[in-house]
Amino acid sequence: MNSAAIEAPVLPFTGEQAHRAVFITCDPATGARVGRYSAATAGDVARILATARRGFVAWSAKTANQRCDLLAEWLNRVEAQTEVLAGAMTDEQGKPLAESRAEIGKALREARQMLSFARAHGGRTLPGRGPGWSNTILRRPLGVVLAITPWNFPVLTPLRKLVPALAAGNAVVLKPSEFTPAAAMCVVRAAKALLPQGTLCLVNGAGDVAASLVEADVDAISFTGSVATGRKIGAAAGARLVPVSLELGGKNAAILDRVANLDAALDAITGAAFQCSGQRCTAISRVIVHADVYAAACEGLIRRLTALKLGPGRDPETTLGPITTQAQLARVTDLVRAAESAGARILTGGQKLALPDAPEGLFFAPTLLATDDPENPASREEIFGPVLTITRYKDDDAALNLANATDYGLTGAVFTDRLEFAQRAMSELQTGMIHINHGTAPDDNMPFVGIKDSGLGTGSVGPSTLDFYTTEHAAYVAS
Ligand code: NAD
Repeated sequence: MNSAAIEAPVLPFTGEQAHRAVFITCDPATGARVGRYSAATAGDVARILATARRGFVAWSAKTANQRCDLLAEWLNRVEAQTEVLAGAMTDEQGKPLAESRAEIGKALREARQMLSFARAHGGRTLPGRGPGWSNTILRRPLGVVLAITPWNFPVLTPLRKLVPALAAGNAVVLKPSEFTPAAAMCVVRAAKALLPQGTLCLVNGAGDVAASLVEADVDAISFTGSVATGRKIGAAAGARLVPVSLELGGKNAAILDRVANLDAALDAITGAAFQCSGQRCTAISRVIVHADVYAAACEGLIRRLTALKLGPGRDPETTLGPITTQAQLARVTDLVRAAESAGARILTGGQKLALPDAPEGLFFAPTLLATDDPENPASREEIFGPVLTITRYKDDDAALNLANATDYGLTGAVFTDRLEFAQRAMSELQTGMIHINHGTAPDDNMPFVGIKDSGLGTGSVGPSTLDFYTTEHAAYVAS
């Protein structure tokens, strides 16, 4: 049992503990129980929101630099717990330990970059209309921000919300995924006695608890998760005119032109497709390949996929961990079957696996599906698993049309040696993020942003994030 996971959530819960619903988390590699949590009750939610409201008053009274100094200290504390956090993540989410450590490192780099943006974020004075007048654009924190996060990046996604929201002066209530709360709880607990009481709160529970928070008196909602849930939250926020940021799914394509260094491109595509067992919203899930290099790309990808080493995340040899939940494994399996029924060919993989050393694990063989049909489920549906679809194209127009033939618009990559094709892709790819000649890993200072069904509102990570977490005011001073 994960000791970090069994303690009560951050706010001290009183008398009703015995009546709370309990939920457990399991190691997806072994099926073993690793965490046991109490879901918040309606009374907890009300109390936590009241505490956050008081926390906001104390926290927003500090200057941006004071807040950023304290948050920098908090991040140092989080960093000091890297090994505990990485273990908690691997035990609940399943990714290899090396990926868990890398996620924490990336989350901290982004967070520290965000603090430097926050120290410089704020008002601006413009010349006024009359002599001696000044016009000042002010930014103020919103109040209490609700952050709701999914299970695939248990540290990175919460920090992408908490750090800018707090740096801008808001209090935050975090509802982490019910499948991976341990790491988020460690992160929040690391702020104890550093930030004023109520500045950073955590509420545990499933979708019903999250939905009750969405309906509660919060001043903004930042959500990362599925399109279906995002639509519900967007509708609820719209009805109350509460600002909302939605980071949703993706069906990300890499276009592979006739490049001189095919191996380097295939390495980058394999990494971007199979890291976190493909359970990344930015995972490459379609590779659209020029007909002249299609056969070589199929052969090279099959070789790379069959070399991946499936196993539990705590095994240092593992390069591909399990799928995180039983429901997600069922979804991946169903979508691969549907793709096959609609005419896709399985070039490798295609089924669940029972590993001899981990027979209860939720493993799915790394899979390459071939189809040239843009209507096939393998071309359209977000599979969110270790599955890559390969499709042929003949000219640049066809490649870009195929890449854009999806409701999603999160990220896209183009591997090409031709500058004019790279430039065309930069203006025509219908995605929030565009990568030329590398995989889909975003940088620490750039907006993480989707368009179409992949997201709404400013992105996280880059400087514009701070605009979302503040209100804008125009102040006029006449002499
Ligand atoms: P999900 O939408 O099922 O759950 C996400 C969070 O929302 C969880 O904390 C859950 O408890 C909560 N939730 C569930 N029902 C809710 C409701 N009715 N109201 C409010 N909150 C509710 O998503 P998931 O299965 O945890 O995550 C997988 C999805 O997330 C994938 O589609 C993936 O693409 C997407 N994702 C997107 C990004 C991004 O930045 N664009 C990043 C990671 C994951």
